[in-house]
Amino acid sequence: MKSAKELQKELTFSVEHISRTNPEMQAKAFEFCEGYKDFLSSSKTERETVKNMIEMAKANGYEEYNPEKIYSAGDKVYLNNRNRALILSTIGKMAVDNGTHIVASHIDVPRLDLKPQPLYEASEISYLKTHYYGGVKRYQWGVTPLALHGIIYREDGSFVEINVGEDENDPVFCISDLLPHLAKDQRERKMGDVLKGEEMNVIIGSLPFEGEDIKDAVKLAALVYLNEKYGITEKDFLRAEIEVVPAGKARDVGFDRSMVGGYGHDDRVCAYTSLMAELETKNPAKTSIAVFADKEEIGSTGATGLCADYLKNFICNLAMMQGVNQYTALQNSKCLSADVGAAYDPTFADAYDPLNSCYINKGTVLTKYTGSGGKGGTNDCGAEFMAEMISLFDEKGVCWQSQELGKIDQGGGGTVARFVAECDITTVDIGVAVVSMHAPFEIVSKLDVYATYEAFAAFVNR
Ligand SMILES: [Zn+2]
Repeated sequence: MKSAKELQKELTFSVEHISRTNPEMQAKAFEFCEGYKDFLSSSKTERETVKNMIEMAKANGYEEYNPEKIYSAGDKVYLNNRNRALILSTIGKMAVDNGTHIVASHIDVPRLDLKPQPLYEASEISYLKTHYYGGVKRYQWGVTPLALHGIIYREDGSFVEINVGEDENDPVFCISDLLPHLAKDQRERKMGDVLKGEEMNVIIGSLPFEGEDIKDAVKLAALVYLNEKYGITEKDFLRAEIEVVPAGKARDVGFDRSMVGGYGHDDRVCAYTSLMAELETKNPAKTSIAVFADKEEIGSTGATGLCADYLKNFICNLAMMQGVNQYTALQNSKCLSADVGAAYDPTFADAYDPLNSCYINKGTVLTKYTGSGGKGGTNDCGAEFMAEMISLFDEKGVCWQSQELGKIDQGGGGTVARFVAECDITTVDIGVAVVSMHAPFEIVSKLDVYATYEAFAAFVNR
């Protein structure tokens, strides 16, 4: 007869800290995250991310996809979708009607976008007005150094890229907040209104244009500077995309350097880990596809969000090239929807169900469903694909855990999973556990980053 202890070991399920189960992973994870930190620090917008990824893809033998061309097994292609989304793919030995292996992440991040007409002067200070993008707690964006990144088109059709606030010799920008001494009324505001949408105004200058006495001389000084430096006028803001993001690089967190802190882990941590797995893929049995989508944070909308058909069209084009059924190709494809999980935060334990939460340092997070309330808006992966992925990870020694996003009635969220699934593709959510998700400075564990990379590599190479 088995003892209670033996039975307990055999019958119960729990997940341990990776450094206990896989102590050898630490050195590999720390090394892997050096590359990740560089990537994160230099990829602050979706455009910069696409640009950096294409550079890395080209260095790894990828060429720009041409739907007119015939590709054979082992060929590597990239498809640039309007400079804000990207597909990388390695053609498999089997035709695509046997299915493809997709990893879908997103490369847009919550931030403040400049309004179309952003520039104004008040009390002889020049400001840029912003419109927040995605789910942000606005108060977190006040009184912290900010950088400006983006692109502006000029009258003559040429464009200029802007990146100010990252170099240590650059100036930074800032949104002000009220001093506590005078915050009696502000203290009565609800959390969402501590800094209101129309109060997210970025200070960019305070010296007037020298010379004759004119109105708005500080605004003029800013325009003169922008004109001399970038060759633009105020009208050109209307043909621009400029994002206000936290200034500074990704950093190690903790005395033991076990974590990485930085802006944009959600979801560039899944983008980077799936990028590395895709770049290293050689001659896969099934065609591997890594898609890096835009607009997930506002509902996967627009031509660069996954509501658009570019992933589906890419697969259908491959099917046409191979003379096989495109619907079968979609139906037999399988996708890991690669997005971050909400790491259990003991400081705010009330928001989580500890039994169904993910924890830092316990591996990549397999998420059967997301959504809010009664699973509203979720993909809800079937038991069959959950079983398939769990077997794969167990067999390949991938460290994994499970979660649902916090307590049922606390809120919720979605990912690109449902939009991929709506193309008739079997999909499950998976990704890295993040502390302080959507904050200007998010935290992930290096062990989890590496475990997630291992999960994607196991999936695309099986
Ligand atoms: Zn995300």
